Amino acid sequence: MKATMILSSTKLVNTKSTFFAGLALAMLSSTCFAYGAAHWGYEGKVGPSNWGSLEKEFATCKVGQMQAPIDILTKAAAPASAPIAAKYKASAGEIINNGHTIQVALPDEGSAILSGTDYKLLQFHFHTPAEEKVDGKGYPFNAHMVHKSADGKLAVIGILFKEGNENKSLKDIFANMPSKEGKVALKSNFDASSMLPSSLAYYSYAGSLTTPPCSEGVSFYILKAPVELSKNQLNAFQKVFKMNARPLQPLNGRKITQSS
Ligand SMILES: [Zn+2]
Repeated sequence: MKATMILSSTKLVNTKSTFFAGLALAMLSSTCFAYGAAHWGYEGKVGPSNWGSLEKEFATCKVGQMQAPIDILTKAAAPASAPIAAKYKASAGEIINNGHTIQVALPDEGSAILSGTDYKLLQFHFHTPAEEKVDGKGYPFNAHMVHKSADGKLAVIGILFKEGNENKSLKDIFANMPSKEGKVALKSNFDASSMLPSSLAYYSYAGSLTTPPCSEGVSFYILKAPVELSKNQLNAFQKVFKMNARPLQPLNGRKITQSS
C-alpha cells in the first residue's frame, strides 16, 4: 500500500494544477483507507493472476517483463564481485499489520552497501511460504528487507527461513504482531543484523515489488544461507496470514549473479 501511494504521488507531481493534484491525492488516500486490504489479495478475484487488471496503476503486474519473485537457478548464476556490507544499528520502530503482511518499520536503522551503493533500510516484512525458490526448492517463510538509496532506487535483501529452532531475533515481533490491521510500537530497539545469517553470500537479480503495483527496478539480494524459525512461530504468523506469497514469475532472459 505504501509503495502504491509513493508511486502515485510521484506521478501527480507532473499534474499542472497543484490544487487538483492535492485533491487527487486526498481522494487516493481515502480510496486506500476505504478499501484497505480488500483492494487486492492472494486468492480469488483479487488474487495475483488478476492484479494487473484490478487498477490502471497495477498494469505492470501483468505486462512487466522483470517481475519478482523468481525461481533462482543457481547453475546459471554468474559471479558477482561485491559482498554485502551491512551497517545496521538498533532502532525504535513499529510492527504494522497492513492487511497483506506484518511489516516492521524502522526509521533509524542504518544501511547496507549493495553493489557499491549505500541503501538505507526502511522496513522488513514477511511472506509465507517464501516467495523466492532456489533450484525449485521452496521454504516455508521469508523476510524481505526493503532498502532505498539516496537517489530513490529500491533494493531488497531476502532471508529464507526453514523450520527448526525458535528464532530469537524475531521473538518479540511474533509475540506482539497485531492480528488485525493496525500497528504497535516495538517493545525495545531492534537491530536488523540480529536477523541475518552469519554468511551474507547471495544470489542477485533485477526484479519488482512482489505486491501491486509490481513496480520494476528493484534489485534483489537473496541470501544463500537460510535461518530458522520454529513451527510455533510459523503457525503464529499463519494464523494472521495463511498465505501471502506471489507465485513465481518468468525469468525472461534475466541474468542471475551470485557472490560467495
Ligand atoms: Zn516482500
